[in-house]
Amino acid sequence: MNSFFIEFRDPLFSIIIFFSIIFTITFFSYWWNKYKRTEDSKYLDKFLKQFASLPSKDELKVLISSGDISEKSWLLLAHSYYKSGNYEKSIEIYNEILNICNSKNRLETMFLLGKTYLKAGFLERAKQIFLSILKTNPRTPEALKSLLLVYEQMRDYKSALDVLEPLDELNEDISLEGNYLRVMAILNNDKISQDEKSQKLLYIYKTSHQLVYMLFEYLFLHNPTLAWEHFDHSKSELLCDILWKIEPKDLNLDIISQNGYLRELYSARGDVDLAKSSSIFELDVLIKLGGKAKATLNFEYMCDDCKIVHPFAFHRCPSCHTIDSVHVECQLSKDFYKDIGDENNSFQ
Ligand SMILES: [Zn+2]
Repeated sequence: MNSFFIEFRDPLFSIIIFFSIIFTITFFSYWWNKYKRTEDSKYLDKFLKQFASLPSKDELKVLISSGDISEKSWLLLAHSYYKSGNYEKSIEIYNEILNICNSKNRLETMFLLGKTYLKAGFLERAKQIFLSILKTNPRTPEALKSLLLVYEQMRDYKSALDVLEPLDELNEDISLEGNYLRVMAILNNDKISQDEKSQKLLYIYKTSHQLVYMLFEYLFLHNPTLAWEHFDHSKSELLCDILWKIEPKDLNLDIISQNGYLRELYSARGDVDLAKSSSIFELDVLIKLGGKAKATLNFEYMCDDCKIVHPFAFHRCPSCHTIDSVHVECQLSKDFYKDIGDENNSFQ
């Protein structure tokens, strides 16, 4: 026994005990941290899974009818689905809100549902929603404007023009909308000839001086002689992409030689040699290149109202629905057609 106590009191024994305690504490601390990390990770995964999968229609029904979350929050959620392009989920939420008998935001929800139907392309449903809003609230300009858009997309221009009447009574400016719808009705009328269409469009231009881009796009494509005859020199830059695409045989050299911008534009394209430089960078580069490089002009279309740029021309902005707000911007690009032309020539 004595020998044991002597060893127990040995300093070496104390050191061993000390390190054993440190090892045990470190081991448990390490194990506990690892266990906590695994538990936290499991909780996080479970939490994130709730957001990864969208609530089903039945789940939405239970959640919305329970009233645990305010209607405003549901409207915000539906709007965020709308913004991200998930119209189906957005429509489900609006419909469930409308199913609540004493909904406080009934009219607002109906309007948002109609807008979502319109955006998703359910035109008949959108029409029914806006008509039902107007039945109880006929003096609602936003609902009238949305109904007009629905009729326009349905190509029912007569009904769209009828909507302008109540808008006029509400002191809304309907002149541009009216002319735009009349032009759309002419363009989509298969019963009248191209010449008749050109004359009708020209009449609208002469009497309103609106929709220059839209009208001259048609005229230069189908009746270039008439278009040049009524060409407004001050609109040259607005129509630059239309002018750039005119066939060489349809050019009016008398008019081109009288207009500084046209001289530069067609010198840049290589049809004439009437300008040595241009204040517009893109045209100046093309004039200086003199057709020695495979370069041409490309066009982008910006809405003057919402400033969103589109790769194609539009007459009613696809984003903000403003009419006649297109602003054409040109940029230099590689001429791929010249490549194809050269390749075809090489086989000859
Ligand atoms: Zn716009």
